[in-house]
Amino acid sequence: MGDPNGRTAVVTGASRGIGQAIAARLAAEGALVVVHFGTDESGAAETVEGIARAGGTAVAVQAELGVEGDVETLFAGVESALAGRPLDILVNNAAAAPTGPLGATSRAEFDRLFAVNVRAPYFIVERALPLMRDGGRIVTISSVATRMANPAQTAFAMTKAAVETMSTTLAAQLGLRGITVNAVAPGATRTPANGAVFEVPGLAEQITAMTALDRLGGPDDIADVVAFLASDAARWVTGQVIDASGGLFLGPVSRS
Ligand code: NAP
Repeated sequence: MGDPNGRTAVVTGASRGIGQAIAARLAAEGALVVVHFGTDESGAAETVEGIARAGGTAVAVQAELGVEGDVETLFAGVESALAGRPLDILVNNAAAAPTGPLGATSRAEFDRLFAVNVRAPYFIVERALPLMRDGGRIVTISSVATRMANPAQTAFAMTKAAVETMSTTLAAQLGLRGITVNAVAPGATRTPANGAVFEVPGLAEQITAMTALDRLGGPDDIADVVAFLASDAARWVTGQVIDASGGLFLGPVSRS
């Protein structure tokens, strides 16, 4: 399947949005990509077909994350797709969305956020390591929510802070194997799924005005950064959180 000597990658949450763009980008560089999805089978098929049309190779694997047995289900599919090949790149992209401020987030919603956004990536890394080649790459998608206080997203931001800490501490552990571990923190990124959010009158303009590069992001803006961290060019970068927000909320805005 694909180039038997090429690299391999697992991208969680690749049925749409940023994960779909990351999967396409890694496949364009020749990696066999495992396209993980939770519920959106047709979205995952679209990712796989897009990769195939571009000459790449990908396999869709379903697993609901944040539930009992999630990692086992995911890796049954991953191992079957890899067919004995080692894993080079793991991208923890799947995440549950913000649930609202303190007072509006139930205990069940809080627990689910942590189960999907924190527990799942942690144990996915643990399960991936025996499959991973020395010199491998682990990238987890965080958010600018960890540095921009937004009370509408407190619990969500807490989960992203946790995976940033996971990345720095695991980088210290896994460096002996040459494995780099980094996080990428997107800013406001317009995807087909969240496009409606940015249709709220004035919101896109308000965010754009706070962004040094003067626009919203797109999935490819994030995928390119992940591809860099996954490449040999980033071999000396580990334990870092790379902001990929176009300079969102850097300080007082001056447009003169
Ligand atoms: P999205 O459109 O909501 O897509 C999320 C993906 O994760 C989907 O493929 C979804 O799969 C999967 N997923 C979510 N919960 C899951 C679960 N419980 N089990 C299995 N799969 C699950 O997300 P996005 O906007 O592209 O964001 C991707 C990443 O970037 C996330 O980590 C997000 O927090 C981060 N981020 C995004 C933005 C932004 O503005 N878009 C900003 C900052 C950070 P199914 O649909 O198949 O279930």
